[in-house]
Amino acid sequence: MQFRNLPSVDSILADNDVAAAAQSFDREWVVDLVRESLDEARNIIRQGGDSPGMEELAKSVCQRIEDTMRAEPRHVINATGVVIHTNLGRAPLSKAAIEASNQAAQGYSNLELDLATGRRGSRQAHLQSLLCQITGAEASIAVNNNASAMLLGLSALAAGKEVVVSRSEAVEIGGGFRVPDVLRQSGGTLVDVGTTNRTYVRDYDDAVTENTAAFLKVHASNFRVEGFTASVETTDLVEVAERRGIPVLHDVGSGSLLPTEKYGMLHEPTPQESVKDGAGLVFFSGDKLLGGPQAGIVVGKKDLVDRLARHPLARAVRIDKLSLASLSATLVHYLRGEAEQEIPVWRMISTPEGDLKKRATSWQSGLECPSAVTESRSAVGGGSLPGETLPSWVLSVDCQSTGAEEVMRRLRENNPPVVARIDEDRVLLDPRTVLPEEDGPLLDALRAAVAQ
Ligand SMILES: *Cc1c(COP(=O)(O)O)cnc(C)c1O
Repeated sequence: MQFRNLPSVDSILADNDVAAAAQSFDREWVVDLVRESLDEARNIIRQGGDSPGMEELAKSVCQRIEDTMRAEPRHVINATGVVIHTNLGRAPLSKAAIEASNQAAQGYSNLELDLATGRRGSRQAHLQSLLCQITGAEASIAVNNNASAMLLGLSALAAGKEVVVSRSEAVEIGGGFRVPDVLRQSGGTLVDVGTTNRTYVRDYDDAVTENTAAFLKVHASNFRVEGFTASVETTDLVEVAERRGIPVLHDVGSGSLLPTEKYGMLHEPTPQESVKDGAGLVFFSGDKLLGGPQAGIVVGKKDLVDRLARHPLARAVRIDKLSLASLSATLVHYLRGEAEQEIPVWRMISTPEGDLKKRATSWQSGLECPSAVTESRSAVGGGSLPGETLPSWVLSVDCQSTGAEEVMRRLRENNPPVVARIDEDRVLLDPRTVLPEEDGPLLDALRAAVAQ
C-alpha cells in the first residue's frame, strides 16, 4: 500500500504556503483542511490511483482555503436560453435596480423613518404606492418570497378554518413547495373540490360551510393539463365568493405585469387582471417575470392586507432593505413604460430573432472548430409558462472527439463558468440569455473548452 508514502500532517503544515495560511487563519481549521486533503489522497489510493506528493497535497490545502474565501454565488454566464432559470438565480436585475440596492447597502436610509414627521415609518409605504398604481389594488405587502407570502396570507386568514381549492390546483410548485403542505402549516384545512381535470363553480359553492375562510386559486405555473378540462374563471369564483361573504385568494405565480401574448406566448395571468376580477388577495413572485429581486408580493383589498400586516409572521418573513430598494426601482420601469428596454428578462424575451441570429453568427466567426448557427427554441422557465418556448437561433458546436459532456464540464469549470445545453452530442449556446458584455468571456471559454 502507498498509504505509508503519504506525508504527515506536520510536514504538510511545514510547507511554506500552508504555514503562511496557518499564520493568517485559524490554525485548527488549517489542520482540519490538511486532514481532509489526506483523506482524499487515501481515497484516491484505495481506488487504485497514485499517491499525491507533498506539493500536490499542499496545493490542495491552499485550494480549499481559496474555495472557502471566494465570494459566492459566483457570476455564471447563462447560455441555456432559459430566461428565468431558478438554479441560476432567476431574474438578473436592471441597472437602476442594482444601483438602488447599492445605494441602500452603502449607507443609512429612511427605511422605517418618516422624514416629514421624524417618526417611525413603514418600509412598505413607498412600494405600496407603486404597486397600487401599477395593479389597481387598494393595498399591498411585500415579503421574502411568494412561498412566504402564501404562508402569511393563509396563516392570517385561514388558521383553524377551511380553504376550498380545486383538485387540479392542489399542486406542487417545485422545490418542496406544495399547496396542501403550506395550507397545513398555516393551520388551515384544505377542502379539495372537483376532479383533477374538471372543476365547476358549483363545486366551490357546494363546499362552503360556516367555517370556510376563503377560496384559493393557484395558477398551474409549471405544468399543463390538456384535453377534457374545465376550470373556473376568477370572475365567476368571485361572484360565488361575494355571495358567500368570503374572499378569493389568487396565487398567480410568475407576476407578469406585461401581457405575455404580445411576445407570442400563451397568456399568463397578470396581477392587475386578478385585482380587476375582484380577487381579495393576489400573490406573486418578484424574481420571475416581474424581473426584480427575490420577493413575494401580495396586493388586494385593504382590510385583508391589513390582517396580513398585523400577523406575527409578517415580521418573520419581511422583505429586506436591499430587495425592497431594487424591487421599487424595477417597478418604476413599468410606470415609465420602459420595462421592455430596461428590465433584462423582458429585454431577453423581446429580442428579435434576427438579432439572436446575428449574435450567434458573430460568435461562430470567432471560433475555429466545426459549428453551425441553427434555429432553436428558448424556454421562459422558472415556473412560468409551462412548455412555452420562443423561437431562437443558437450556436451549435460539434464537439468532435472531446464529446459534448466533456465540453460542458470544461465550460462549467471556466472562470466565469458557462452553462449551456446539449442536443444530440452537440453543445448549444443560446444568445438570448447571454448579457452583451459577456460575449468576450463566453468566446474565450468556448475556445478553451473545444481545444483538443
Ligand atoms: C414560483 C411559484 C411559487 C413560489 O414562489 P417563490 O417566489 O419561489 O417562493 C408559488 N406559486 C406559484 C404558482 C409559483 O409559480
